[in-house]
Amino acid sequence: MTETAAPATAARPETPRPARPRASKPNGQWKVDGTAPLNANEQWKQEDGGLSVRERIETIYAQGGFDSIDPTDLHGRFRWWGLYTQRKPGIDGGKTATLEPHELEDRYFMMRVRIDGGALTTEQLRVIGQISVDFARGTADITDRQNIQLHWVEVEDVPEIWRRLEAVGLHTTEACGDVPRVILGSPVAGIAADEILDPTPQIREIAERYIGDESFANLPRKFKSAITGHPSQDVVHEINDIALVGVVHPELGPGYDLWVGGGLSTAAHLAVRLGTFVEPSRAAEVWAGVTGIFRDYGYRRLRNRARLKYLVQDWGAEKFRQVLETEYLSAPLPDGPAAVKPPTPGDHVGVHAQKDGKFYVGATPTVGRVSGEVLLELADLIEAHGSQRLRTTPHQKLVVLDIEEDRVDSLVAGLEEIGLYANPSPWRRSTIACTGIEYCKLAIVDTKDTATAAVAELEKRFEADPAKDGNGANALLKPLTLHVNGCPNSCARIQTADIGLKGQLLPDGNGGQTPGFQVHLGGGLASDTREEAGTGRTVRGLKVTAEDLPDYVERVTRRYLADRTGEA
Ligand code: SF4
Repeated sequence: MTETAAPATAARPETPRPARPRASKPNGQWKVDGTAPLNANEQWKQEDGGLSVRERIETIYAQGGFDSIDPTDLHGRFRWWGLYTQRKPGIDGGKTATLEPHELEDRYFMMRVRIDGGALTTEQLRVIGQISVDFARGTADITDRQNIQLHWVEVEDVPEIWRRLEAVGLHTTEACGDVPRVILGSPVAGIAADEILDPTPQIREIAERYIGDESFANLPRKFKSAITGHPSQDVVHEINDIALVGVVHPELGPGYDLWVGGGLSTAAHLAVRLGTFVEPSRAAEVWAGVTGIFRDYGYRRLRNRARLKYLVQDWGAEKFRQVLETEYLSAPLPDGPAAVKPPTPGDHVGVHAQKDGKFYVGATPTVGRVSGEVLLELADLIEAHGSQRLRTTPHQKLVVLDIEEDRVDSLVAGLEEIGLYANPSPWRRSTIACTGIEYCKLAIVDTKDTATAAVAELEKRFEADPAKDGNGANALLKPLTLHVNGCPNSCARIQTADIGLKGQLLPDGNGGQTPGFQVHLGGGLASDTREEAGTGRTVRGLKVTAEDLPDYVERVTRRYLADRTGEA
């Protein structure tokens, strides 16, 4: 689904119930309080939904240029088509909170290309790479939600970019905004030898039926989905609004365990299981039911209380399931088993067997950063090795599919030549970084360059480390994850990392300020080889400057290694 519809108003429940008497202020829940908007954001969404702006971009703004754009479109509706203004270069992080938004804003856009399930062909990859070269100054970042982001895009070029994307089945529809965002999918869907079930048909059905559908185009906030049938639980399901995780029901066979209400940002909540079993044939219906609950019962008064996690917290799993089954589904769901905690992380880096005898190769760029040129070279490389398929992952990585055994070594070497590592150091493998001050208007500090420099330095420091368990220091370091964020938000999932970093400015000792981070320790998900998922904790007063980051991580790591090996 790539075409837009441009209705005059956003969808709403057909027969809103009148507000019932309440002790506290209404929360803007459509089915409880009625649909009267309680803030300006809700008002413009109802008056003229985000999807409608596409026509104006194509017929007015692309001709009139940046200055012709209506401010409500620029700062609101453009997101429904994956477009955000990027940060003006050269504004330091100390001004992020003091300048007006328009003073931080450049005349260029970040454009997010939506890749449901992370599934790409080499033809599609080549198109994204060429768009990057032609319209985005060669920029391209693989995000931790399987999208590819471009920067420096001008509004004049957007219609041509859409034409090229849509010609190969890609689009930017609802890549941002208060909508169902990209559907995370197992990067090895349909190919892994150890797969429980292939979620590809369910991801496709949901995307085709509901993305760009007006009835789900005005949600209280963003809505994140994840579906996997792989035992490594490779889609960070605990931090999505809805997740379907592969399980085997003793009588009904393979299907999904349903989770709802996960989300990070500044108030992290892990998703909860509803205890139901979802047969594959009902996955789209269940997805629409959960999304419908969010649309109709989600809190719309305050944007910082609007994510589904707050409703799930207030209702609890039992009530949520009951409302889902009685008001939104054609029939109740059977009880189902819990997904089994995976023995290994689900990042898919390295060489692995497919079910058809071929191999898939997972490779990591450094902190997700690639370029248009690299994407073009990668497309050539994959095709030269007899494949036409690849996937992006929720860990800022790439997986090349369908490689014959005798071509694997050559592919791995070719990937390394273009900066994609199938045998990375633990640091390169487990460090991710958000966009940061380079382009993000909310950022306080740099992330990508800081993390890249830290990775290089840590590789040097640990390379010469004597083996501590007979396998070398790297084997011990493997589980440690380092997530670098440019502000207190959590786009790079601070709370799911062993070491999570939240950007802030710190005293430099000379009366000034220097970029640094508040440290958050001990987070992790079930797919991170730990006993229980948890969001860790921010350690009060524990801060590190960007300059001292390698020293700090080295200290924490050596202490961790000493603890694990029983050294004092
Ligand atoms: Fe921007 Fe902050 Fe998100 Fe990083 S964590 S991309 S700096 S909002």
